Amino acid sequence: MSQLRFKVVEEAFDRKAAPVAIPNERPEVYYGKYVFNRQKMFEYLPKKTYDALVYAIDNKEPLSREVANSVAEGMKRWAIDNGARHYTHWFHPLTDGTAEKHDAFIEHDGKGGVVEEFTGKLLVQQEPDASSFPNGGIRNTFEARGYSAWDISSPAFILDQTLCIPTIFISYTGESLDYKTPLLRALNAVDKAGTKVARFFDPDVKHVISYLGWEQEYFLVDEALYSARPDLLMTGRTLMGHESAKNQQLEDHYFGAIPSRVEAFMLDLEIECHKLGIPAKTRHNEVAPNQFELAPVFEETNLANDHNLLLMSVMEEVARRHNFRVLLHEKPFAGVNGSGKHNNWSLGTDTGVMLFAPGKTPADNLQFITFVANVMAAVNRHNGLLKASISSATNAHRLGANEAPPAIISIFTGSQLAEIFNRLENSTNDELISFAAKEGMSVGVSQIPEILIDNTDRNRTSPFAFTGNRFEFRAVGSSANCASAMIALNAAVADQLEQFSKKVEDRLSKGEKLNHAILEEVKRLIIDNKAIHFDGNGYSEEWKTEAARRGLDCETSVPKIFDAYLRPASVDMFARTGVFNKVELEARNEVKWEMYTKKVQIEARVLGDLAINHVIPVATRYQSLLVDNLVKLKSLFPGEKGEKLSELDMSTIEKMAHHMLTIKNEVEAMVNARKDANRITSEREKAIAYHDTVVPRMETIRYHIDKLELMVDNEMWPLPKYRELLFIR
Ligand code: ADP
Ligand code: MG
Repeated sequence: MSQLRFKVVEEAFDRKAAPVAIPNERPEVYYGKYVFNRQKMFEYLPKKTYDALVYAIDNKEPLSREVANSVAEGMKRWAIDNGARHYTHWFHPLTDGTAEKHDAFIEHDGKGGVVEEFTGKLLVQQEPDASSFPNGGIRNTFEARGYSAWDISSPAFILDQTLCIPTIFISYTGESLDYKTPLLRALNAVDKAGTKVARFFDPDVKHVISYLGWEQEYFLVDEALYSARPDLLMTGRTLMGHESAKNQQLEDHYFGAIPSRVEAFMLDLEIECHKLGIPAKTRHNEVAPNQFELAPVFEETNLANDHNLLLMSVMEEVARRHNFRVLLHEKPFAGVNGSGKHNNWSLGTDTGVMLFAPGKTPADNLQFITFVANVMAAVNRHNGLLKASISSATNAHRLGANEAPPAIISIFTGSQLAEIFNRLENSTNDELISFAAKEGMSVGVSQIPEILIDNTDRNRTSPFAFTGNRFEFRAVGSSANCASAMIALNAAVADQLEQFSKKVEDRLSKGEKLNHAILEEVKRLIIDNKAIHFDGNGYSEEWKTEAARRGLDCETSVPKIFDAYLRPASVDMFARTGVFNKVELEARNEVKWEMYTKKVQIEARVLGDLAINHVIPVATRYQSLLVDNLVKLKSLFPGEKGEKLSELDMSTIEKMAHHMLTIKNEVEAMVNARKDANRITSEREKAIAYHDTVVPRMETIRYHIDKLELMVDNEMWPLPKYRELLFIR
């Protein structure tokens, strides 16, 4: 019966580490091999073109057609020298993934043959036939044109013999249909507003740069096991499966020795990353069995995000070479930790100052406190929006569980920063803050030098934590496009900084001294935004009550969380910063609700199928074996003895009958709930109906299936179990 299961388990457990082609050179030689970076530009472009391109990149200015043609020619030569045959505009539609349509370089040569060509026109702008990308109604099908346009701030690269050109994707009427366009707008906004504030401290500042260092968590599963689980295959997570007796309770996986098959995969992946210019640096086991993490050195936010998206597709490809499937879903397995993608975020100036790092002098520290206080204000004012920016059908399984950030946004500062805020709030004079950036801690072992402790302790229960020189937005989901969180955060902070600079300017125009003006405004921010500051246990029940009392957004239903995008405070903020207009926001929410519904719908269908066509038939077969045994026992031992001997069978048969009947009834109810929901025309109401009436039934069905898994003969159970899926040898 379950021959397939045993076959795939054996296949998976027997598998050895795949060989890795390790380059002869060190990383510094092959790093960026497939990236058209400045070094390649210099080599392949005429000097004049190179200068014009670098100027345009540095000053965020458009390219002339003439320069574009020259760039295209050089880029093509470089691509062909590196084995490319095709090119594509590479963009980020609203589907948590990337899109590409490949074209070969070839054109007719007029003599019956072909030449390989690539013009500035094709480099700079294309019109992909993109009518079937989600657009929330912005493009009617009769006006289905969308344009992709080169983002010169992110370098072109070669992936699988294809030259990929990072582009934005917008509609005929100029609305963004992607993540990159609003991200670039938000980064511009924070640059502009941040620069105004940074200039209070140093008039030489010309730009403020937003940095992102993501930490990508993921699970690996052997491909044979993966293929034997229709739920993993179709939804990216297990919809059923009883917890394994051992999972993460011994805490033996975190930072543990990496299994050799996985190590080979990681090495292979790192080499690929480095060739693509992704600065992969850290790799380790995560908390759950089969869970791992990869983190790069942080980069400017737009580039870092392109690199994360590229990483996600490279990972899937490299995993296949190692007979793995990579699971980027936030919660592939119940009962063990899910996966996030912590977004380490900071701002810095073009003069080299990291704005969230405490300085050595009181003046530096005032700048530091100013920026941190503005972040707190922005996060406080827009806490509901920030939650919406990381919410999705898949991340919902992770948030609010006792392992991941809670579904309430708050900021952890650590005791040192909290104390400084406290002192500032209560200080009556203009004394500047002196603040020991790092405090020595003696470990009492003479051969080990002093360890420098961070300005902050660690609190893993906070969704948004200050970690010494940056903020860590931990609520972001592992499968998400970081841009969603980065758009909301950078826009909100930009808007706040803009208001702050105006208020300080106001005071200055009334003759106040600069330090005094800044301190007074910072003080006000600290007093007004206390609600967002919480250093305690974010998992606790008391926090939920306290957060509600403080007026923080405590909504837990994802479709309703999305409403935050359309509240006047968000609409106005996005309008002021030029990141989204109302049409874009409305369209995007339509897409979000639709995506939510579709994801739940697919899961519900798969679960219904598994329940009725896989689980119930097997359970019935096992139950009938029990019935058979029971009848035989009774006929062999008539009377009381037979009754006694068949008690076990009887009770199991009855329990199984109860679970099976409940499953059948609940599947029917779930199908009906879906039918009812599908009749609703409003995307929002439909998503809410799916959330309220379909999701709870899926949980009930799963509960009863998992009970049956514990009763049915192990030999008969059709799908690989958790203990088989979760432990790579
Ligand atoms: P953790 O200890 O939180 O797991 P890791 O070392 O795994 O941290 O990853 C931290 C990430 O934060 C890395 O990607 C790192 O480059 C990034 N990072 C460090 N400093 C900054 C900064 N100032 N701004 C943005 N990202 C940063
Ligand atoms: Mg971290």
